[in-house]
Amino acid sequence: MKAMILEKPGQRLRLAELDRPNPGPGEVLVRVEACGVCRTDQHIVDGELPPPPFLPLILGHEAVGRVEACGEGVESFEIGQRVGIPWLGGTCGQCWYCRHDAENLCDAPSFTGYTRHGGYAQFTVANADYCFGLPPNIDPLHAAPLLCAGLIGYRAYSLASDKAHRLGLYGFGASAHILAQLARAEGREVYAFVRPGDEEGCRFAVELGCSWAGFSDERPPRPLDAAIIFAPVGALVPAALRAVRKGGVVVCAGIYMSDIPSFAYRDLWHERIIRSVANLQRGDGINFFRALERVEIRTHVQPFALEEANEALEALRQGRLQGAAVLVIA
Ligand SMILES: [Zn+2]
Ligand SMILES: [Zn+2]
Repeated sequence: MKAMILEKPGQRLRLAELDRPNPGPGEVLVRVEACGVCRTDQHIVDGELPPPPFLPLILGHEAVGRVEACGEGVESFEIGQRVGIPWLGGTCGQCWYCRHDAENLCDAPSFTGYTRHGGYAQFTVANADYCFGLPPNIDPLHAAPLLCAGLIGYRAYSLASDKAHRLGLYGFGASAHILAQLARAEGREVYAFVRPGDEEGCRFAVELGCSWAGFSDERPPRPLDAAIIFAPVGALVPAALRAVRKGGVVVCAGIYMSDIPSFAYRDLWHERIIRSVANLQRGDGINFFRALERVEIRTHVQPFALEEANEALEALRQGRLQGAAVLVIA
C-alpha cells in the first residue's frame, strides 16, 4: 500500500510503499477513503510535541473508510461498513481516569497517527472499540474533518458551558467553522476572531452565520459568555479573558500553544475561568454524531491527493486554508 511516512520531525513526509497491515484481535483493517489534516499533525511534523514513540510513523487521525477485514473477536462492525477513526486510539481501562469517566485523560492512552499508525495511507488498522460507525451514505471527503476538528471542537464547546449564549471563537479554521454552524443552529450568537488582516476569514465567518467577525486584537462589540481558542497562540488567552464577562470561561482547545504572556490578575478576577481540553471521550463522539442528526452541517474542505500531504500541511502552517484540508485516498 501507499503511505506518507514521517521519518524524522522537521522533515517532509515521504511517499513509501509498505505492506498492508493485518488486524490483530479486537482490531479492524480499514481501506481509507479520506483523511483530514489536523493542526496536531503539523505540530508533530514540526517537532512541537514530544517525539512519537517510534519512527517512521504514519500520521492522520481523521480517517474515514470501509472495513476491509475484522480481527478476532470484533463483532461491532461488518465488512464493508463505513467507519471513522478518531484521535483516541485506545485507553487502559484501569487507571484512575478510566475508572472515573475521564478516559480522555488516561495514563496509558494510544493516539491514532501519533503512538499508533494513522490514516495517511491506503489502509490502516484501528481498535474497533474506538472507531465510530458512520451513516453509509456519508461523503468521506466532507465527513473526515468531523473526526477531530468536529469532535474535539465539540468537547470544547460542551465545556464552554451550556449557558454560553454569546460564544467567541478565536481562530476560524477547521474546528471553528463546524462549531459555528452547530452553535447557530442551537440558537447561540457566534463571534469569530481571525488573524489580523484576514478579511477573507471574516467574510467566511459571517457567511456561516456569525453575528460578528473581527481581528483577534479587537474587542467584540459585547462581552462574551465564553470563548474557545483554536489558534495555537498563547497571547490570545489574556485577550480572550478581557473579552468575556464576569464568570466567563476561556477554553484552550489545542494540544499545543505558544507561551501565554503574563497578564494582570484583574483580567482573571470575578471568577473568570481558563481551562484546556485534552483529547476526547468516546461519549463525546456519540453525542456529537447524535447532534449532527438534528443539525445539518456543511464542512468546507480543500481536497489534496495522498501524495500532496506536505502541501496540505504547508497550507495549514501558513493559514492559507478556508475550512479543512483533507487527503482523498484512492
Ligand atoms: Zn486509563
Ligand atoms: Zn486533530
